[in-house]
Amino acid sequence: MIIHIDMDSFYASVEIRENPDLAGLPVVVGGSASGRGVVATANYEARKYGVLSAMPMAHALRLCPDLVCLPVNMPLYVNVSKQIRDIFYRYTPEIEPLSLDEAFLDVAGSEKLLGSAAAIARKIKQDIKNECNLIASAGVAPNKFVAKIASDIDKPDGYVLVAQNEVQDFLDPLPVNRIWGVGKKTEQQLRQIGIKTIQDARYWPADDMIKRFGKMGDHIQRLAQGLDKRAVISDAKAKSISAETTFANDIEDKDALLAILLQLTEQVAARLRDKDIKGRTVNIKIRFHDFNTITRSKTLPENTNQTRKMWNTVKQLFLGVWQQDVRPIRLVGVGISNFSENMELQRDLFTDSPEQAFEQNVRQEKLDALGDEINEKFGKSKLRRGRNLEH
Ligand SMILES: [Mg+2]
Repeated sequence: MIIHIDMDSFYASVEIRENPDLAGLPVVVGGSASGRGVVATANYEARKYGVLSAMPMAHALRLCPDLVCLPVNMPLYVNVSKQIRDIFYRYTPEIEPLSLDEAFLDVAGSEKLLGSAAAIARKIKQDIKNECNLIASAGVAPNKFVAKIASDIDKPDGYVLVAQNEVQDFLDPLPVNRIWGVGKKTEQQLRQIGIKTIQDARYWPADDMIKRFGKMGDHIQRLAQGLDKRAVISDAKAKSISAETTFANDIEDKDALLAILLQLTEQVAARLRDKDIKGRTVNIKIRFHDFNTITRSKTLPENTNQTRKMWNTVKQLFLGVWQQDVRPIRLVGVGISNFSENMELQRDLFTDSPEQAFEQNVRQEKLDALGDEINEKFGKSKLRRGRNLEH
């Protein structure tokens, strides 16, 4: 069985944990409205006003003038994410992080020793609550696709178990846009021919589905049947490390997309540094509104795990695509592959000469500088109320 763990409104929850006075208020973390920033995370109180992640902050403030807007504190979230990762490791080494606050866990090898997947998921939720004072939602299912829906469907503080023989009953009544890749436009097209639920999609003749939607049609029907063979690939075994975000609404704003790409780059680089590995080939992935997906990559002269070096390349790759192809974008991803050989790793791990110590400092300075850049992108504001900003 696969477990999908997803922290509830992660950045916002961490901020509220650090400042309990904010509990109960609508809180978002993201960039300033004046800097054309976007919402990175909204807590559930803010979501009641229709505030969503990746929404321009100015728009969020119009929806909720009392919104508490906080700047992104990425080093803090990376730290908390590591604590959570350490909890996962108690139960399985087969962990595939999707972002700082979300991961798939394959517990097939641990069930004899540690109990059923269902029991392990409950323990993980409890550990995160006790040790991090944060709430996670969990989905337990036979594959990634179903586990991810299961963790989402009962949020916040969700826990949903879907056994193999329950998969079809679980999926059938759900709206067809629960299938990943089905955006607003595809959903509309499906509705036009009468497909509203996953069951409707499953029953539709396969040849007609492919005639109408091409590859996407086949994708929809396979997932509608609950078929998903993707394995959980841990960072240790992975040939690449990546992070990606799918937007609730397609985005056409270049600055917003760059802000999101920078955040993803920082996440990937932080994971590389955490594992003491370096990669050489930087990849980006862009999925347009019509599900057409492209990737671009560039190989650097040397291996790196520095955010700044990765970011320069990510930006260059993205702008290359953007210049030729300005269309609404549904998903962006950042990855790095082509990892350094073990020998090189060893050298890095076991040296502590003064030169190396100096280099470490330089590296740290660069990181701090980048933290500033992230704050700039997402806004450098102090704690403030939206109303003060608006009036
Ligand atoms: Mg989350």
